[in-house]
Parts: sequence; structure tokens; C-alpha cells
Amino acid sequence: MSEKGKLIVISGPSGAGKSTIVFKAIEGRTDFCFSTSVTTRAPRPGEEDGREYFFIDRERYDQMVADGELLEHAEYVNNGYGTPRAYVEQKLAEGMNVVLDIEVQGARQVHESVPDAVMIFIIPPSMEELRRRLIRRGTDSMEAIEGRLMRARQEYAEAEIYDYLIVNEDADVAASEFSAIVKAEHLRTRDRLYLLK
Ligand code: 5GP
Repeated sequence: MSEKGKLIVISGPSGAGKSTIVFKAIEGRTDFCFSTSVTTRAPRPGEEDGREYFFIDRERYDQMVADGELLEHAEYVNNGYGTPRAYVEQKLAEGMNVVLDIEVQGARQVHESVPDAVMIFIIPPSMEELRRRLIRRGTDSMEAIEGRLMRARQEYAEAEIYDYLIVNEDADVAASEFSAIVKAEHLRTRDRLYLLK
């Protein structure tokens, strides 16, 4: 592969279907990978260290922040979350597209430090639909659902920093929109100047 991979940031409310869309879009492709974040929160039942997250204590997290080992980091509901820098840099250098599923504060940091990161915001068709999906999922109390909806509204207010907005009405359509965005980003002239020599 002659090109560097793309750093792809996806954000959006939990319940928007972000991971479903991305998994559908990258199924069977060997040129994509997901970054695994570190977090200080406790694993949920069924989560495995090194799969969903690297679960670390606050002391280690603070050390990673101080040593500049995180590409971005943010506090979310009293826990620290961050993206290990070394893995992302290595995969990009190998020509892989690296997907980060992170919240808006961290996305803003990536936007500033990696200006050509592809920023995609994914939303459900409406807040009402989001409420229905969260209730159907059955993993949160009504109070937690209202909290997530409030957080979603706050994130919408900051979503202008994203380059693309996908509305997840139909997961197949949304997945093909995701693929189209990545394809177009790989065709940018500024990244293909070597072909004009
Ligand atoms: P959860 O605790 O539900 O797994 O994740 C809470 C929020 O943290 C989600 O919005 C998720 O996208 C975000 N998140 C997960 N990993 C990271 C990370 O490395 N950095 C940032 N900034 N947010 C993250």
C-alpha cells in the first residue's frame, strides 16, 4: 500500500448504532482496525480486558497522560478514557485505517492534533427514536436513559466540528455512507500528489 491510512473518528449518542454501522462497513476488510482505549471505569459483565478496553487504575492513567502516551483523553461520568498513541501511529504508518469511537471532548483534541482526521458524527433519526432504542436495549434505568438523552443534546450542540453527519435510519444505508466517506477521503488530491509526479 502506497498511502498512509486514515484516522477516522466516530462520535454520537450511545444508541445511535455507531458500532453496528462500522462493523457492517468494514466486515471482511483487512485495511481497517479499531483502536482499543484505556479506561479507569470498571469492566461491565462480559467485558474483557484488552477487548472492549484496557482497564487500568487511576494512577496508571494519570501516568500515561503525564507521559504523553495518549493521543487524546477525556473524563466521562467520573472516569478517565483515552486513546493509546503508539498503536494508532503504528497502524496508520502501516497503511491501515484506524477507527476511534470516542466522545466529543476527545474528538475535539484529535481534530486539533491530527488535522486530516476524518470526523464523522452518527445520529438516530430523532430523539424520540433514540429514547425508544435505549428502552428496547434494556441495559439502562429510566433515569440513566434521560441522562444519556441530555448528554446527546449537549453533544449535538458541539457537532459542527465533524466533517460528516450520518443519520442512522437504516443500518445498511448508513454503512454504505460510511464506506463512501472513507473512499472519497482516500481520493483527496492532497494525499495523492505522488501520482502526479
Ligand atoms: P462507555 O463507558 O459507555 O463504554 O463509554 C462512555 C463514552 O466514552 C462513550 O461515548 C465512548 O465513545 C467514549 N469513549 C470510549 N473510549 C474513549 C476514548 O478513548 N476517549 C474518549 N475521549 N472517549 C472515549
